[in-house]
Amino acid sequence: MTIRSPFARLGRWTHSARSLTAFNLACVAGLCSVSAVMLWDMREDATRRTEITSRSLLQVLERDIARNIELYGLSLQAVVDGMKRTDVAQASPELRHMILFDRSATGLGFGFIMVMNAAGDVVLSSQSVTPSSLNRADSEYFQYFTAHDDDGLHISPPTISRLTGQWVVMLSRRLSSSDGSFAGVVTGAIHLDYFRGLFAAAGVARIGTVTLYGPGGSILMREPFDQQLLGKSVAQQPSYRLIMARQKGSFNGPAMIGEGERRFEFTHVSDQPLQLSTAIPPKDIYADWWQKALTLGGAVLSLCAATMGLTWLFRRELDRRQIAEIATSALNVKLERLATTDGLTGLSNRRRFDEVLAREWSRAVRTLQPLSLILLDADSFKGFNDCYGHQKGDEALKLIARSMEAVISRSGDTGYRIGGEEFAVILPDTSEEGAKIVASRIQEAVTGWKLPHASSTHRVLTVSCGLAQIPETIAIEPAELFRAADAALYEAKRSGRNCVRVSGAANPNLLLVVS
Ligand code: GH3
Ligand code: MG
Ligand code: MG
Repeated sequence: MTIRSPFARLGRWTHSARSLTAFNLACVAGLCSVSAVMLWDMREDATRRTEITSRSLLQVLERDIARNIELYGLSLQAVVDGMKRTDVAQASPELRHMILFDRSATGLGFGFIMVMNAAGDVVLSSQSVTPSSLNRADSEYFQYFTAHDDDGLHISPPTISRLTGQWVVMLSRRLSSSDGSFAGVVTGAIHLDYFRGLFAAAGVARIGTVTLYGPGGSILMREPFDQQLLGKSVAQQPSYRLIMARQKGSFNGPAMIGEGERRFEFTHVSDQPLQLSTAIPPKDIYADWWQKALTLGGAVLSLCAATMGLTWLFRRELDRRQIAEIATSALNVKLERLATTDGLTGLSNRRRFDEVLAREWSRAVRTLQPLSLILLDADSFKGFNDCYGHQKGDEALKLIARSMEAVISRSGDTGYRIGGEEFAVILPDTSEEGAKIVASRIQEAVTGWKLPHASSTHRVLTVSCGLAQIPETIAIEPAELFRAADAALYEAKRSGRNCVRVSGAANPNLLLVVS
């Protein structure tokens, strides 16, 4: 029976345990990587969604504001055009009022239109055929047109209307005489409340902060609304400079009002000196994402921890079993050794001898190689025991065992104690000549001890040897070979002991060989 070394099992187990741990770690790493990629994707999605929402909101606001300013600008242009016509100038005040202000934009949030002469006196007003006597020579827009020869639409910074007390921006155009000289200004107000209504209608409250900037970086409207901020200039803010650098885009920059970083999305309002921006704190952009990330991350980490925990428990259980198995195997090996070893001499015992003889016999028959068997028996040993005592007898048996071990040096050759004072040597692939030499050497070794043996004719401890060999002996089973060697041994005893006898060739009858 072949017994596998417990250490070989241990090696295999260590390998499997390592593979199990590595596989588990690979699974955990895979799971974490997939989750990380998914979370990153979700985060990018949150950024994209915010950008798209901000962009479309700005687009809606920008279109609305640009269209209304254009309309209002056209109304002012109509007044400018009308003022150039002499027939209009000569018409009655009522007719002139009707002609000039017929096309005036009258939408919600637009104030009335006023016409000023070159001295700043209000000469016409869409509000009334007979305007109240006012002078606006000190106003920003009047000052602008006196200083600039500009035919375009001018938008003033936000200001508080002297007539209504409300926040407005003034839209104005230059009136020119036929020779091109300054003849006055046509102006109209847009109430900042108009922008507030517009912001509310577009639902900007969902997108952080939305701001409309006017000339000079002044805040025209901001949602969430703060009265205090109307008219405040942010021209010096780094983020505003970035807005002014391009027509539209997005960037991360410092908040213009308040602390911290913001994600800005911005656009200029067509070709007007107005800009719109949304500003969102990153934590708002990723608020939902954080919630999902924490839930998903928590679930994945718990799963990983559970997997690792289970693997650890599984491995610990396997460890226990393996240790028990190794201990059992080691015990089995020990028991097997004990079961096949002779306790007195340390040689293999009869049981082992029978196994090895059967195996070597099969091999010899299969490979057609020679196989020799030597049986040894201590001579007149009963007398030895009687003479020197049983203990001395045991010592003598050990000496015979040591003598056998000293002679049997070739690998494959094995010695046994197969009975009380009987021994055997199996010599695979060994010819008759070789086996005789081995038997003689053992004999000489035993005799060499010169252990006194008073009841023996040889006076010292001696052994007799019987030798049988395949193919000289035709043995159809291992026992046949044993019987032949035993018969040879009997012959050796009969021949006076302390000699070697060989079983006869091709004949169970013995061939005598004198030692
Ligand atoms: P022969 O030369 O014909 O073999 O004579 P013998 O006396 O050796 O043979 P026999 O079979 O009559 O006696 C064998 C003796 O060997 C009997 C026993 O006292 C002794 N013996 C057997 N086993 C042991 C053992 O383990 N220890 C000791 N001390 N003696 C043993
Ligand atoms: Mg005997
Ligand atoms: Mg004997």
